[in-house]
Formats: sequence, structure tokens, C-alpha cells
Amino acid sequence: MSRPGNQQKLNVAIIGAGPAGLGAAIEFQKLPFVNLRIYEQARGLREVGAGISIQRNTWRMLDALGVYDNIDPNTIFRAADGHSVQHRNGRTGELVVSNGQRDTPQRYKHARALRTILQTALLKGIDQSKLRLSSRLIQVSELPNKALSLRFEDGHTDEVDLLVGADGVRSVVRQFSFPDHRINYTGVTAFRALVDAQEILSIPNFPDAVTFWHGPTRWVYTCNLNNGIYEVTARTDVPETSQTASWGQDASTDEFVGLYKEFAPIIKEVLSKVKEVKKFPLFAGPRLSRVISHGSIALIGDASHPLSGAFGAGAGFALEDVYVLARSVNWAHERNRPLSDALELYDRIRSPHYKGMYDILDGFRRSDASGKELTLFDDIVASNIKNKWTDDHYWLYHYNVQEVWEKTYQAEDAKQQGNASRSSEVASRL
Ligand SMILES: Cc1cc2nc3c(=O)[nH]c(=O)nc-3n(C[C@H](O)[C@H](O)[C@H](O)COP(=O)(O)OP(=O)(O)OC[C@H]3O[C@@H](n4cnc5c(N)ncnc54)[C@H](O)[C@@H]3O)c2cc1C
Repeated sequence: MSRPGNQQKLNVAIIGAGPAGLGAAIEFQKLPFVNLRIYEQARGLREVGAGISIQRNTWRMLDALGVYDNIDPNTIFRAADGHSVQHRNGRTGELVVSNGQRDTPQRYKHARALRTILQTALLKGIDQSKLRLSSRLIQVSELPNKALSLRFEDGHTDEVDLLVGADGVRSVVRQFSFPDHRINYTGVTAFRALVDAQEILSIPNFPDAVTFWHGPTRWVYTCNLNNGIYEVTARTDVPETSQTASWGQDASTDEFVGLYKEFAPIIKEVLSKVKEVKKFPLFAGPRLSRVISHGSIALIGDASHPLSGAFGAGAGFALEDVYVLARSVNWAHERNRPLSDALELYDRIRSPHYKGMYDILDGFRRSDASGKELTLFDDIVASNIKNKWTDDHYWLYHYNVQEVWEKTYQAEDAKQQGNASRSSEVASRL
């Protein structure tokens, strides 16, 4: 791989130590020609939020990264009957859909866990001496030799050949790469609470399942996280005007509970058990035309597709990004190709994937618009579940990035060989 100044090693900085940054660290530290550092703005690594779904594609990536066994199965929740998720009418409690995951191997079946469990599993896979905490990136600039200069809030500076933006939905790296791109409040706020599991399971007839309780414009989500903890999450269409509203601020339980007056008594009882709740205003932005820039920057995870948790598999998407990016860089290195070729290959695989994801969301918006004439709670709920929560988009969880990677790089190699043999044919004719 050609590198500025013919350095021996490729200097790589990863910004952010969420699932994307930690995953990238795991993969990049396997490449002997890489000199790696990871910068995280937080003083210590802690996950805010409540639970996280570990979807089929996330498990597949944990396996591929070699950290699958860092998660103790006793610390996560898998539904006894094997479902991934169930959908109920929030007013009547009626079960409408149960997704059985019959074609998913046991190893990759959906699980729900405390977010720290996933984080700890990834963290165990990295060389922590490469991680610099309290390091908030505030400025990126491109030097005349095309290297990137990084400046951090505490005065620290660095110069790198490859900058990996794993800095989440409000990415500074994305802002440098695509200065006109903006994220905005989506009009939806998530409320997340953790409750003593016994309190919830002692509610008569309460289903110990992974359940969405749907209303027309809001839902409540309940699920066991094991470890004696139950998660109660809700999404509502609450107006939130501030563009800087912070992630995980305390909210009042009254504010939260008052939003579900039309819901079934069983849900009101669940909400009455909530003692503390945090609010997460959800921000999102339009799709990026590319997930790379400058021939030296790659965006991964939420930085590459600012969607605020759509599809409940963001950690899996982030790890898929990581899988492809690290292999693309290694591919270019082995063929003595420039870094920009590695990034092009990465973009060729991941940009269409994110286009597919944004297309699904456009379809949801169209179905919302076509359902505008519905007025009754039950009719709207039935229509929402039918249009948004069936298996039309399940390809996202079944997507096999490993196969896609193999096919794409082999096709690129074949193209290059074809070009090379055509050139030598032409040369021999001259
Ligand atoms: C309500 C909600 C529910 C969700 N549920 C699920 C789920 O069930 N399953 C699932 O897989 N995904 C879920 N997601 C999505 C998932 O949380 C994200 O996709 C995932 O966390 C993305 O990881 P990331 O590393 O890209 O970003 P983040 O997790 O946001 O990590 C970014 C990191 O970068 C750091 N950082 C930011 N800026 C800077 C800077 N300037 N300098 C240095 N460091 C910086 C941050 O401190 C942070 O540690 C959900 C998201 C939301 C909003």
C-alpha cells in the first residue's frame, strides 16, 4: 500500500469507542502493518441506555471478530419459545405477530442484553493500551502531503494516514467529510427505564417475552434482560425543539406514564413500576452519498448512517462496516494498492446496504401517509404492524456480509487481472 512519506506502518486513528470503534479496534489490531490508536471523548467507558438487541447479524459478526464467546449466555435473555419479538395491540393486549426465527441457528438467535454486556465483550477483545480516553476530537484538517491532522480538546494532536469515524450519530468526522450534512430531531423521543424483574413478572398474566405494545403513534417495549432486570422502553412523538438535547437526560415518570392513558391496564401497571426514567431524543439525517471521503477517511457505525436506532441492529451494522473496512485495507496492502482503493471497495459494499435501509424507511413513510384516513386505535395499530413490523425487511438481519465481501473483492481481482492481461496483449501487439 502506498503511504505518505513511505512510512513503514499505516497510521490509523479510530474516533469513538462505541460498538463501531471497539469492533474496528479488534479488527485493525490484527493487521501487523497498522499503527493503531483509539480516541474516546468519555472519561471512562460506560454505556448509556438500557438494553440492546443482539440480532442474528450481530451474533454473526461477533463470531467473525472472534469475541462471540466473550458473552456468557447466562447473562442474556432469549425467549423460551424461540421468538425474536412479539407485537401486541397496546389497548387490548392481543398478540398480533410473533416472529419465530425458525430458520436462524440457535447460536445466532436474537437475544436481549444490558448494553454493557456487549460493550464488555468487545472491550475484552482490544489492546486497551491503544485506547486514549478523555480525548474529544474537535478538528480535522488535511495536510499538503494528504495526511490528516487531528486536534483534540485537551490539546493533544495526531497525524494519521487513515481516519476512522466511529463517533456516532453526531460525528465530528462526518461533519469534516460532508460539511453540508445535517442531522435533526426526528420528532420521536425514546424513554428508557430499568425495573426490578420480579415487580414486572408478578403482574398477573404478564407475558415474559420481547414485546412491543403498539399504539397509533407510540409504543411501549418490555423485555427481560436477565440479571433480575426488566427493560421498559417507550417511543413517543413528543415535540422536542432543542437541537442539542442530550442523550440520556433524566425525565419525570409522570411525563412518561401520562403518555399511555389509552393503553391496556396491564401496561399502565408496568409503567407504574417505573421509578426512574431517562429520555433520548432521537436525531437522524439523510443518507450520505458515500461512506468515505478524501481518500483517507472511512465512516463506520452510526457516523456512516445517522438513523438513531432504526431496526434495532445498529451494533450489528457497525460491526459489518468494521468487517468490510479492515478486510478492504488488508486487501489493498496485500496487492500494494493505494489506501484510496481500499476505501472505494469499502464504499462499494456498504453504501448500497445503507441505501437499502433508507429505502425501507421511505416505504414506512409512504405507508404512514396512505394510512392517514384511519382514525381508530385498533385500525391504525393493525395497519402499522402489517406495514412496518412484518418480515419484509428481515433481510437486514439475514444479510451475509462475509459472502458479499468475498464476491466483491474476487470480482475486483478478476477485473484487475483482466485489465492486466489486456494490457500485456496490447503491449505484445506493439
Ligand atoms: C433508542 C435506541 C435503541 C437502540 N437499540 C438497539 C438495539 O436494540 N440493538 C442494536 O444493535 N442497536 C440499537 N441501537 C443502535 C445502536 O445503539 C447504535 O447503532 C450503536 O451504538 C452505534 O454504535 P457506534 O459505535 O457507531 O456509535 P455510539 O455507540 O454512539 O458510539 C460513539 C462513540 O464515539 C464517542 N465520540 C463521539 N464524538 C466524539 C469525539 N468528537 N471525539 C471522541 N469520541 C467521540 C462517543 O462518546 C461514543 O462512545 C439503538 C439506538 C437507539 C437510539
